[in-house]
Amino acid sequence: MNYVFNPHPVTSLPIVGSDVRFPVRRIFCVGRNYAEHAREMGAADQAEGREPPFFFTKPADALVGGDGELAVKYPPLTRNLHHEIEMVVALGAGGENVSAEAAPGLIFGYAVGLDLTRRDIQARAKEKSHPWDMSKGFDQSAVAGAISPVAASGHPTGGRVWLKVNGQLRQQGDLADMMWKVPEIIANLSTLVRLEPGDLIYSGTPAGVGPLLVGDVLEAGVDGIGGLRARIT
Ligand code: MN
Repeated sequence: MNYVFNPHPVTSLPIVGSDVRFPVRRIFCVGRNYAEHAREMGAADQAEGREPPFFFTKPADALVGGDGELAVKYPPLTRNLHHEIEMVVALGAGGENVSAEAAPGLIFGYAVGLDLTRRDIQARAKEKSHPWDMSKGFDQSAVAGAISPVAASGHPTGGRVWLKVNGQLRQQGDLADMMWKVPEIIANLSTLVRLEPGDLIYSGTPAGVGPLLVGDVLEAGVDGIGGLRARIT
C-alpha cells in the first residue's frame, strides 16, 4: 500500500513483565464516577438512584505513556490545567451489547492514568452547552503507566487511588467508591459503540482535582495495579 505520507505510528503502552506492547485503539473516559468528585464539580447529589454514566473521548495519539518519568507538555490556551487520577481499563477483546457478567472477559489489564483537563475551557463549554473536546481531548491530555495484565492483578474492585504533586497528597479515593463499577461501565459503553481490542477506558476520578504548573512532579498509584510518574514541562 502506498500513502501520500507515512501513516502515524500506532500508539502503544508497555506491559508489566512483558516485551510485547499493547496497541491503543481509542480512549474513552467516564465522567463523574465518584460522588465526592461530582460534588466538588458542583453537580447536584443524585437523590434517586444513579444517573446513567456518560462518556467522552480523547484521540489515541493524545496519549503519553510508559515507564519512568513521563514528560507532559503544559497545553496552550489554558490557565487552569487540572489533574485527574484514574484507573485505566485496557480491553483485549471487543463486543457490543456486552453484559456486565461477560464484561470482565474483555479486559486485558489495568493501568494508572491521568485525564488532564483544561478546566477553564471546560467551564466555558458547560456554560454555553458546547462540546468538551478542546477541554479534554487536546495533545498529551491522556497519560498512562504500564499495563498490569489481569493475570497479575486480577480485577480490582477496591483499593486506594492517589495522586501526589511535588510530594503533597492531592487526590485520594477508593475504587470501591466508583458509582458505576468497571463491568457496568463496559456494558453501558458497549451499547453506544462496538468496543474493540486496544480500547482504553478511563474510569473516573476521585475528589481533590486541582491545578498543575510547569515544573510540577506527579506521582500516582492505584493499589494492586501500579504507579505513574510525570513531570509537567
Ligand atoms: Mn476524568
